[in-house]
Amino acid sequence: MIISYEMFVRGVDLIKTLKFDLLLCDEGHRLKNANIKTTSLLASINCRRKVIITGTPVQNDLQELFALIEYVNPGILTSSSFRHVYEDPIIASQQPNASQTEKELGASRASQLNRITSLFTLRRTQDIINRYLPPKVEFVVFCQPSEIQLSLYLDIVGCRSLRKCFNSVDTGDHLSAILALRKLCNHPALLALANDQETHNELAQEAAKLLPSYLKPGIFDEKDSGKLAVVSCMLWALKEAGREKIVLVSNYTSTLDMLATLCTRYDYPYLRLDGSTPSNKRQQLVDRFNHKYSKDFVFLLSAKAGGVGLNLIGASRILLYDIDWNPATDLQAMSRVWRDGQRRKVYIYRLLMTGSLDEKMYQRQVKKQGLSGAVIDARESDRVHFSTEELKDLFTIHRETACLTHDLLKCQCDLMGGTSMDTHQEQVIKQPERACQLYSGSSGCHLNTITMDQLQNWCHLATPFVPDTVKDPCLEAASDFITFLFCSESNIRPIQLTPTL
Ligand SMILES: [Zn+2]
Repeated sequence: MIISYEMFVRGVDLIKTLKFDLLLCDEGHRLKNANIKTTSLLASINCRRKVIITGTPVQNDLQELFALIEYVNPGILTSSSFRHVYEDPIIASQQPNASQTEKELGASRASQLNRITSLFTLRRTQDIINRYLPPKVEFVVFCQPSEIQLSLYLDIVGCRSLRKCFNSVDTGDHLSAILALRKLCNHPALLALANDQETHNELAQEAAKLLPSYLKPGIFDEKDSGKLAVVSCMLWALKEAGREKIVLVSNYTSTLDMLATLCTRYDYPYLRLDGSTPSNKRQQLVDRFNHKYSKDFVFLLSAKAGGVGLNLIGASRILLYDIDWNPATDLQAMSRVWRDGQRRKVYIYRLLMTGSLDEKMYQRQVKKQGLSGAVIDARESDRVHFSTEELKDLFTIHRETACLTHDLLKCQCDLMGGTSMDTHQEQVIKQPERACQLYSGSSGCHLNTITMDQLQNWCHLATPFVPDTVKDPCLEAASDFITFLFCSESNIRPIQLTPTL
């Protein structure tokens, strides 16, 4: 019997009367909450063999992992001991101010939990699928803020409504401050009031008043936004180069509007899929874009709408204009293009405004991904609460750096390459005591080092680029607006015809 969760709940009384020998739950992370109806009804089915299949075993916290364990193996761990023995020590060990004892205890409990769960879990990572995919080149592009972005950033961080949020415990206040700065990173004109909702938001109103009069709603000059300037140069170079197409992704429909304006300005044919696209039209758009003879050069995609399964292999390049707190959302966007069926080399670009909230969000992503693998994919709980210190750190703009993230790595590559050695050295000397926000380094949590090492092993390129180091015509064309690049090319192992799972 193949049945959806919804139909199962409706028909459970009838289904209960049947005897099953095996129960498979696809997208099993839906059962992560033991209290929801579906989970308890499924648990009530009399069936000895239960299998959960999921790509995201733990999205928020270890309690979710517990719910999954409890479903497939009821009683192997008890709820109270799980919290006491595993969850609390593991979470405590991941706090930035954790003591050495706490870290050691957390690490030993994590590996203990791993040992138990490994008895009944089979973990297969993307690596297996990746062997069958074409090579992929990934860039993190640090974009130079425009003068107006820098001055507005300082104005907004210093404005009354934003300072108020430091003392507020209302998450809504924090999020609207974050939203204002993220818009600014995308383009300052996005701060112009666009809808009724915003006119009721004090910070949005105050930010809009700070805008100089030439910044008007709907007018998006490339020179006012470093990121938009980069995109504009990249699109130009890609169009010049030939027939390749590109997907542009944003979390905001207002930013997609802006990118659409850019496409119109330069006569680039584009398609757009966002939350308002009716589901019966989505496949048409996708088919049209992927078609061999399609003239559509750009596909504008809302990160939220581009759910699982959307296949955009007509493009071999994808650009994330802004990033999400959750790395899974960004990875999902990337896999629209780098996926089964793709035959060309894939290029992935993520844009960040140098020294800004963008970079801080990226650092948090790196940290989260670093936690995965500790206990299946356990990671710190998605915090909606920010401490005053965290907010102050998030909102601080670092104007003096070419790449804050690179500074945090304490990498010595500039000293060897010599391209931007002076500024780099100055940074390191000036702030030797700055706590590493990625919790790496000697005192860092061992769970993170893999990802930090990975970033360390990526190519680090400062501008002006040494000729032939950036083998990407799009980025070379945009180099005037770029301060720094991280770059990684996947090493693809030869395809095996008989994979041993
Ligand atoms: Zn470096």
